[in-house]
Amino acid sequence: MEFPDLGKHCSEKTCKQLDFLPLKCDACKQDFCKDHFTCAAHRCPFAFKKIFTYRCSKEGCKKKEMLQVACDQCRGNFCIQHRHPLDHSCRHGGRPTSKAG
Ligand SMILES: [Zn+2]
Ligand SMILES: [Zn+2]
Ligand SMILES: [Zn+2]
Ligand SMILES: [Zn+2]
Repeated sequence: MEFPDLGKHCSEKTCKQLDFLPLKCDACKQDFCKDHFTCAAHRCPFAFKKIFTYRCSKEGCKKKEMLQVACDQCRGNFCIQHRHPLDHSCRHGGRPTSKAG
């Protein structure tokens, strides 16, 4: 019996094991098994991208900052321009919201 095309093979050359729940490296966008998904394990060529770059969480903004600019209210990371709760339409801007839903 043949298996349908489920899962992904680990992108690490020395491994290639089929993994049904592959983990994606967010630096190089490749799928890895749980043993190789860390940048160190697959010697990620894009690991440097993960270091010191914080992408602005505001929708439509592609800006990245070298340092973390976190909003105290919603704990999101933003660029310098959008760091103020008003500038990123902060969800936690005024009244406290409940976790319902
Ligand atoms: Zn692997
Ligand atoms: Zn990687
Ligand atoms: Zn921004
Ligand atoms: Zn906020």
